[in-house]
Amino acid sequence: MMIRESAASMAAALASKEISAVDLANQHYDQITAVDKDVHAFLYLDKEGALAHAAEVDKKRAAGEKLSPLAGVPLALKDVLTQKGIPTTCGSKILEGWRPPYDSTVVTKLKSAGIVILGKTNMDEFAMGSSTENSAFGPTKNPWDLTRIPGGSGGGSSASLAAYEAPLAIGTDTGGSIRQPAAVTGTVGVKPTYGGVSRYGLVAFSSSLDQAGPCARSVLDTALLHQVIAGFDPKDSTSINQNVPDVVAAAKKQDIKGMKIGVVKQLSGNGYQKGVENKFKESLDELVKLGAEIVEVSCPNFEYALAAYYLIAPSECSSNLARFDSIRFGLRVGDDGSKSAEEVMNLTRAAGFGREVKRRIILGTYALSSGYYDAYYGSAQKVRTLIKRDFESAFTKCDVLVSPTAPTTAFKIGEKTNDPLAMYLNDIATIPVNMAGIGGMSLPCGLAEEDNLPVGFQIMSPAMKDDRMYLVGGALEATLNNKWGKPILDFAPNLAASK
Ligand code: GLN
Repeated sequence: MMIRESAASMAAALASKEISAVDLANQHYDQITAVDKDVHAFLYLDKEGALAHAAEVDKKRAAGEKLSPLAGVPLALKDVLTQKGIPTTCGSKILEGWRPPYDSTVVTKLKSAGIVILGKTNMDEFAMGSSTENSAFGPTKNPWDLTRIPGGSGGGSSASLAAYEAPLAIGTDTGGSIRQPAAVTGTVGVKPTYGGVSRYGLVAFSSSLDQAGPCARSVLDTALLHQVIAGFDPKDSTSINQNVPDVVAAAKKQDIKGMKIGVVKQLSGNGYQKGVENKFKESLDELVKLGAEIVEVSCPNFEYALAAYYLIAPSECSSNLARFDSIRFGLRVGDDGSKSAEEVMNLTRAAGFGREVKRRIILGTYALSSGYYDAYYGSAQKVRTLIKRDFESAFTKCDVLVSPTAPTTAFKIGEKTNDPLAMYLNDIATIPVNMAGIGGMSLPCGLAEEDNLPVGFQIMSPAMKDDRMYLVGGALEATLNNKWGKPILDFAPNLAASK
């Protein structure tokens, strides 16, 4: 069985023909059959398509074709990216039954690299949430403890990694949806620089913030996947036409002597769980032992980041989600010939969207309404500029910035569902990165002493300098694994025992 190996070792075993891509995919489908009834990471499995693609990779390899490094390695795809002919729901009833007629650029790149897409993963509806409880298809469970959330919105992707259902996954991150799920499941997740990975075919939530990125169980695996999906795409007007930094070399380098690492004063301390704070501090000590210098930096405008995010993201969402009009995609309710198009649209949107999505549409419509636009949306955009400047000034003093990823470890399912503000506060440390369009990574840094659950360490790097977070992340991961004697997921109770 290879399912507990890293994607890099699976790739090596495939290259040396120790295992075929078809067998590797089947091993993962077996694991999915065994555990996904409890975890519920997947919304849709494309076994037939995946095995056909895997067989094609095997054939090419047998013929001696030169293949890309991850050819034949399986992957779980967040259900917010289009894959031609495969249902794409975004965790919403409103898209039920819709099969997109085209591949997103991320999927095109995955397919041409020979990566085998096992299926689509569960998520908060339209990526709005921090726990995957806002999915119309029921929550995903955290493989560490099935009574807890796997983070969100990409909880299906992170849970699939922690449950060994896939070695690689794709997430999307608008305010933390790659990094926070990674933090609470003991996995690694990266939000690349905005514009670093194409948004073509990523169903939009908040277009100026959304970014797809790689998720895996190690920094190197994440880097290998990053290299596949990143790069300029003329189909995305915000795509950056520059070379992708060599993130794989950075992940392998493991030398951070003399690097300056900035601790953001505003992103630690205040109200975080003790065990989170402790593991974060212990990791800083490890970075010092590796020869890095720790400096404290102040980013005073981060205090307003959450408030500004909850004006900008809902505003853009209210506009983006207007396209779900009962005519173009998916669900149509009440179309019995007796009703007007407007009535059908109203009935469809009332039935098709969940509570959180409706809440955001209402917030956003209000913030954009005439007379309020400048006071709300306009002010939030100004705050965004101030946050960007805080980062710029901080990066004159250090190479990367760090903080805990999330204020707490995985909380209980149901604990925060009736308190939207408590839910929003999960992203207090991840949102500034999206507001400024820079890169952010979360990697595991230990288990909190209160609950023995994983804690995430966040590394932030300047725009298009994504290699820096891989450099620091790779070094920290190596030293921590060495200290623990094994990767963090080996401390997770096995799924059968955690039921
Ligand atoms: N939790 C945040 C929200 O609900 C971020 C979601 C995301 O990054 N997609 O908006």
